Amino acid sequence: MFKKSFLVLSVIASTLSAFAAEIAAPKVAAIKPPEKELVIYSARKEELIKPLLDQFTAKTGIPVKMLSDDAPKLLARIESEGAQSPADVLITVDVANLTIAKDKGLFTKLNSKTLNKNVPALYRDKDGEWFGLSKRIRAVFYNKEKVKPEELSTYEDLANEKWKGSIVARSSSHPYNQSLFAHLIKVHGEEKATTWAKGFVSNLARPPQGGDSDQLRAVASGEAKLAISNSYYFGKMLTSELPEDKLVAQKVGIFFPNQKSAKGELNGVHVNISGGAVLKASKNAKNAQKLLEFLSSAEAQDLYASLNKEFPVLTTAKSDSVLASWGPFKEDKTLLGAWAPHSKQATLISDKVGWK
Ligand code: FE
Repeated sequence: MFKKSFLVLSVIASTLSAFAAEIAAPKVAAIKPPEKELVIYSARKEELIKPLLDQFTAKTGIPVKMLSDDAPKLLARIESEGAQSPADVLITVDVANLTIAKDKGLFTKLNSKTLNKNVPALYRDKDGEWFGLSKRIRAVFYNKEKVKPEELSTYEDLANEKWKGSIVARSSSHPYNQSLFAHLIKVHGEEKATTWAKGFVSNLARPPQGGDSDQLRAVASGEAKLAISNSYYFGKMLTSELPEDKLVAQKVGIFFPNQKSAKGELNGVHVNISGGAVLKASKNAKNAQKLLEFLSSAEAQDLYASLNKEFPVLTTAKSDSVLASWGPFKEDKTLLGAWAPHSKQATLISDKVGWK
């Protein structure tokens, strides 16, 4: 009994003295309040962007909440939420989406040394409102048994009648094709681009259907000789755990067009970007900028390459072995912001020539 009360008393005494010490001595290090959650509206597939966001949180302690949807829906949502929008950052694919959002006045202008250094001028907005975070190459893919790479040359050549019934592509209304065609319109003008589109459509092996991976499958199966697709779909298939995807990738070759193009043609491959911007409505703009800076850093750029098989915008990023195996290539240097406004025209001409 005596022992028990002594124990209780000594516990009380030590608690009191600890409490007194705490009052007497000023706290050495104040506990940092938890960081406010950063809200991301993302038009990227969750599995592509989540590892990058997790890495950001681990590094900075800034928690991130992500809402995923397609770009037009996210833009409509940001617009209707107005100044009350909880979103801090928009992450999306395709420069056309970024320029549309910029024109609607949804972004904040950033003056970030880090972003300006990491993202080459060609891949960011001239006013500092959006920044490219990965490069997406629209390449030509061929059936290795039916086509020799020496037979291939340019996007323009895909309208040549020697390819009649040989090509597959997804719908012209998809932003990837819309952007490629907008780029061709910017370089060639409306009249020549219309002639090209007519020739291209008459070379299709089947009406447009499915996504980019489906075009690669059609080439592998021999349904078509050639396809247009973004290169990361091929990269993902090469490294897929699914034997059927690996088999497709083995039967297909990648070709970077317009490496030796004539004057007046695209001078290198067509490059589109995925990118991000800080939203005007953000109440957490400093951390929002931090996230974009992180996504442009070597650490994140390496992940874009190794996980997504996209090309980093950071020129010093580590090269991924799959991407490196495709060899170097030249990119067309027309400003992305210069061809993006031709997207609408691209849709109108596609309708006119029957590119579904
Ligand atoms: Fe895609």
